[in-house]
Amino acid sequence: QITIDQIAAGEVIERPASVVKELVENAIDAGSSSVTVEIQEGGIALIRIADNGCGIAREDVPNAFLRHSTSKIRSIQDLSHVGSLGFRGEALSSIAAVSQVELRTKTADDLFGTHYLIEGGTEKKMEEIGATDGTTFLIRQLFYNIPARRKFLKTPMTEASHVNDVLMRLALSHPEIAFRFVNNGQEKLRTSGNGKIKDVIYQLYGRDVAANLLEIHYEKNGIRLDGFLGKPIISRGNRTYENYFINGRYIRSGMVSKAIEDGYKDFMMQHKFPFVVLYLSLPPEETDVNVHPTKMEVRFHNQQAVYGTLMEGVHKTLSEPEL
Ligand code: ADP
Ligand code: MG
Repeated sequence: QITIDQIAAGEVIERPASVVKELVENAIDAGSSSVTVEIQEGGIALIRIADNGCGIAREDVPNAFLRHSTSKIRSIQDLSHVGSLGFRGEALSSIAAVSQVELRTKTADDLFGTHYLIEGGTEKKMEEIGATDGTTFLIRQLFYNIPARRKFLKTPMTEASHVNDVLMRLALSHPEIAFRFVNNGQEKLRTSGNGKIKDVIYQLYGRDVAANLLEIHYEKNGIRLDGFLGKPIISRGNRTYENYFINGRYIRSGMVSKAIEDGYKDFMMQHKFPFVVLYLSLPPEETDVNVHPTKMEVRFHNQQAVYGTLMEGVHKTLSEPEL
């Protein structure tokens, strides 16, 4: 028997990486300065996410797993300018519908923490425990009750690499948070959380990349560009080195990629793609972010202006002689 939550889960939760994205975004919204993610078997067997954020008060714990329950919107007006990452109140209910969830959480105001178990959407346990402030989620046996979806998952190695991709993007968009990722007991990623993007790049991509960067700061048409451009010598044969963020969010856009690549054109060999970590800031009302949780697409009201600013900003920065 399939529940509404299981169907909803299909929208939000495709694979372990989607669980990690949703739970880490919650940890970020909770004001965490440190987030640790551990997985076993690509996250299919186990995902553990521990944060030091605000925690969930005991009386709110069961509610957090109800569909459309969110603590992040108080009024309809809020909807148009949501600052937090999550705001649909769908993630926890969806995850709980298709896995075995264990939660330990404590707020600074509470003396004791809460230990909560929920499996396939059914509450199994709720008790007091001693705990430090913050929240730890354990997600076991993703899609254990939906064999058809479980079959669609790729090998643990592939699933783990999707998790790694998600965490790299989140680390680049939050240099102020210390991230750690452990796969099958092996540390795969660690950032210091000191707020410096260049340090995050070093920690994620290593010395060769970090030693070959040009800083970019450019503004035109109300669009700001900040970040780092890799020198052409560290280019790649595909777009996997292109990281860009619109108003703090990782997105994909063929137009943005093209504009950046066109800016590089005069400096780059053919069939090569640059390394970039680029933050675009523009008035939110100039963009249409597709708010579907699994999509990362954006439309711009003034495509020309965005294309032009990107292309020029990149080209100019690459043209400037190094000091
Ligand atoms: P949303 O993020 O859209 O509000 P979720 O289903 O992702 O919905 O989470 C439901 C609620 O649970 C959140 O609004 C928040 O109050 C609480 N919550 C979830 N994860 C955490 C966390 N790591 N720390 C503190 N609160 C959390
Ligand atoms: Mg959320």
